Amino acid sequence: MKKILQDLAYSELESLILSLGEKKFRAKQAYDGLMRGKKISQINLPAALRQRLLEEYEDEPVKIAEVFSSADGTQKYLFQLADGNIIEGVLMRYKYGNTQCVSTQVGCRMGCKFCASTLGGLVRNLSSGEILAQVLAVNALHGGAADKRAVTNLVLMGSGEPLDNYDNVIKFLRNVTAEGGINISARNISLSTCGLVPKIYSLADENIPLNLTISLHQTTDEGRARTMPVAKKYSIAEILKACDYYFDKTGRRYIFEYSLIAGENCENEHADGLVSLLKGRPCHINLIRLNEVKERNLNTITEKQAYRFLGLLEKGGLSATLRRQIGADIGGACGQLRASRLNDKKDN
Ligand code: SAH
Repeated sequence: MKKILQDLAYSELESLILSLGEKKFRAKQAYDGLMRGKKISQINLPAALRQRLLEEYEDEPVKIAEVFSSADGTQKYLFQLADGNIIEGVLMRYKYGNTQCVSTQVGCRMGCKFCASTLGGLVRNLSSGEILAQVLAVNALHGGAADKRAVTNLVLMGSGEPLDNYDNVIKFLRNVTAEGGINISARNISLSTCGLVPKIYSLADENIPLNLTISLHQTTDEGRARTMPVAKKYSIAEILKACDYYFDKTGRRYIFEYSLIAGENCENEHADGLVSLLKGRPCHINLIRLNEVKERNLNTITEKQAYRFLGLLEKGGLSATLRRQIGADIGGACGQLRASRLNDKKDN
C-alpha cells in the first residue's frame, strides 16, 4: 500500500510540498482539495506535482463502494480501503445536523458478545488519514465543503475500539478539528470506548473537549464480564474513577451507553444498580435496544419494556434517554453490513 496524504496535518503537508521543490501555496491548494474530499488526481495542481504525489500516495485511500439509503434519511456506507479491506459507516440526519458514525479499526479485538464488528477479530488499525477520509468522502457526497459542512457531528462508534488505536485516533481528532480543515468542533464529537481505563486517563490529558462515552451495559463486574471480556481487565469502579478524572480535567459530563439485552441487563435490579452506581454523577445514560446480530444468541426487549426501564432510571434521579432506532431497514448494528458482506464473499 502507498502512503496516505490525508494522514498529514497541514504543517506536514507544507513540509512535503516544500521538500518537492514547490511553492508554499501549492500546499494550500492540495489541502483544500483533500478537505473537499477530492482524489489527488482531481485536485487542481500542476500535472507534474500530482504525478509526483501519486508515485508515493494513494489516490483515493477510502472509496465509497456502496450506499444504502433508509426511508428515514439514514445512509449506510461500505468503504473500500486501498488494500481491499472493507469498513462501514453511517450518516444519521437529525434536526440539529448530520451525525456520521466512523470506524477506527478493521474489525475489533475486544470480543463483546453482542457486537458484529468483533466477529472476525482485529484485522488492522486504520491510520488517522483513513479515519479522516471517511468523513471527507461522506461530506463531499452530500455536497459539503469546509466552509459549509454537510457532516456536522461525529461519533466514533463504528467498527473498532478507538482507544485500542490510540495514537492514530488522537491524530485524527487533531486533524478533523483543525482550523482551515473540515474543522468539526470537538464538542460535536463523541468517542465511545468499552473502557480501556489507562487510555481514558491519557485522553483526559490531551485537552480535546470531546464527549466521552463509555459502553457500560451492566451494573456489576461479573455481569459485565459475561458479555464484555474487557471487564475482566478493568472494573466498573476503575472506570468510574477514570471518568471522575476526565470530568475534573475537562469539565465535561460523560455518557454511558447501555444496550438493553433481554434477560441480561434490564430487570428492576439493574435499574437499581445503575441508580446506585451513577446517581449524583455528572453523566447521562443512553439506552438503546440491542440490535440483534444473527451470529449471536442475544435478544432485545420491546419498546414498551425499554420505556419502563427508562422510567425506573428517571425515577431514581438519573438523566437518561432511550435512543430512537433509525435506519433499521438498512441493516442494524455496527459491523453487520461488513460481516454480511464477508459472509457473501465466503458463500460465493
Ligand atoms: N468499541 C467502542 C465503540 C463501538 S460501538 C465501544 O465499545 O464503545 C458503539 C456502541 O454500540 C457501543 O456502546 C457498543 O457496545 C454498542 N453495540 C455494539 N453492538 C451492538 C448491538 N448489536 N446492539 C446495540 N448496541 C451495540
